[in-house]
Order: sequence, then structure tokens, then C-alpha cells
Amino acid sequence: MDLGLQEKVMIVTGGAKGIGEAIARLIAAEGGIAVIAGRSTADNEKTANDIIAAGGQALAITAELGKVEDCKKVIAETVAKYGKIDGLVNNAGANDGVGLESGSPEKFMQSLQNNLSHYYNLAHFALPYLKASKGNIVNIGSKVANTGQGNTSGYAASKGAINALTREWAVEMLPYSVRVNTVIPAEVWTPLYETWINSLPNPQEKLASITANIPFEKRMTTAVEIANATVFLLSPRSSHTTGQIVYVDGGYTHLDRSIS
Ligand code: NAP
Repeated sequence: MDLGLQEKVMIVTGGAKGIGEAIARLIAAEGGIAVIAGRSTADNEKTANDIIAAGGQALAITAELGKVEDCKKVIAETVAKYGKIDGLVNNAGANDGVGLESGSPEKFMQSLQNNLSHYYNLAHFALPYLKASKGNIVNIGSKVANTGQGNTSGYAASKGAINALTREWAVEMLPYSVRVNTVIPAEVWTPLYETWINSLPNPQEKLASITANIPFEKRMTTAVEIANATVFLLSPRSSHTTGQIVYVDGGYTHLDRSIS
């Protein structure tokens, strides 16, 4: 299936690593232009250069997305280079462990800044260009918005808000033919996941108990599987899909996990 992404300019936040990297690589493999925005210049450039070496198109932009000015810069630099924006993938985020007991009001607000505010800020600043291109937004959420996890209030609040904003923005954007959807991962092996599991007392044991509870094939979702769904939603092949929250999680969130 040709996804029709040739020369489409797609911004991917956190596109240097993990899920974002898989999305950026797939956009480029489909003929689109992957704009990788994230905090590490070296990581962004490494992924962008890999894409270019493989014959694709990519641009790296350094941005600490918790800062409003950096969000503005991502949009300005993209438009300066390509003159348009066709898609925005809000993906950057981290489960930062700001709990009710372990956190503080300041840490909670900081977590919202790192996980939620830039989803709004980038959508806000990209909006004139998305209206012009009849482009679209795909947000990356988390199962934690439905299931809770414990000790992660800021991250859970952010992901819950992202689900709400998916419906809210889809409605607000109806007059402009701008679609808005969200993809929800549950357990995906990425650099972030590896750091988290290794922070636990018995990482291998914990990993085995997690995968044993993933209903479909008792395995983690791959970053490529998340990318496949995301890029399909980004593409004109999904031209009548908006306001949807799509779970790519091996049934983790909704199926009965006690059934083996
Ligand atoms: P990852 O491996 O850490 O990759 C995320 C990338 O985004 C990294 O390059 C990171 O930079 C960058 N980044 C994060 N926050 C940023 C910020 N505020 N400003 C600038 N750059 C930032 O993470 P991932 O596991 O692929 O997660 C991607 C998304 O999927 C997140 O929204 C996460 O909540 C969601 N998700 C993941 C899983 C999972 O199992 N992996 C499950 C549910 C949801 P640094 O490395 O320098 O921090």
C-alpha cells in the first residue's frame, strides 16, 4: 500500500530514540521528511544522519520541549527550511515517577511541563501550517491514563489530558479538515524502558512477570509496531479517522490479563 507520504513534512518530538525514532525512520522510508526534535543534538543528528545515509530525508532540531521558546523554534525552523508542515507527532515524554507521596507541587508542575505542555504548545504553534496543509496530529499517550501505575501522578495526569485533548482538538479542528488521533502503547522495549526496568531491584524477574501478563503472544510491543499504526494514522490512507484513541498494546489495557 502506498501511504502517500512523499515529500510530506512531519515533525516527530523525541524522534531520536525509541518509539519516536521508529516513527521518524518509517516516515522517511515512505518518502516523507522526518523532522526530529528533541533535547540531545548528538542523538537527533545521529538518527537524522542514519536516515539520510539510507537515502531518506530528515532534519534535526535541538529543543528542550518543556520550554515554550524551544517549541516555537521547532516550528519556525521547520517552516524556514521546508515552507510547510503536514504532520505533527507529539511523542516526547518520560515516566518520571512523581508520586503523591514521593513528589511535591513543584515536581508535579514540572512533570506536566515535560510531558504535557509541549503537546499543546507545538500543536498551537503548528496550527496555521496544519490548517494550510489540511495536515494532522498524532499524539503518543500511555496505558497509564486508563490503568494507573502508582507513584507517577504527573505522567498519569499528562497522559489522561492527552486523551481528552485528542477529542477536544479533533472537534475544534473539524472546520479545517485537520485530523487528531492518539496511539497508546503499554509495554515497548525502548531506551527509556530499559532505564526504568534496570532501576528496579530484580529487573529480569520483573520483565518476565510483565511480559507474562501481555495477552497477545506474551511479548512486548515493538517500537516498529507503534510506528506502523502511527504512520498509517498520519497518512492520507486514514483520511476519515479523527478523534480516535488507538491501543497498540497486545490487548494489555482491555483484555482480561488473568486468562493465560
Ligand atoms: P525514549 O526511549 O526515552 O525516547 C524519547 C526521546 O524523547 C528521547 O530522545 C528523549 O531525550 C526525548 N525527550 C523526552 N522528553 C523530552 C523533552 N521534554 N524535551 C526534549 N526531548 C525529550 O522514550 P520512549 O519509550 O520511546 O517513549 C516515547 C513515548 O511513548 C513517550 O511519550 C512515552 O510516554 C510513551 N510510552 C512509552 C511506553 C514504553 O513502554 N516505552 C509505554 C507507554 C507510553 P533523552 O533521552 O535525552 O531524555
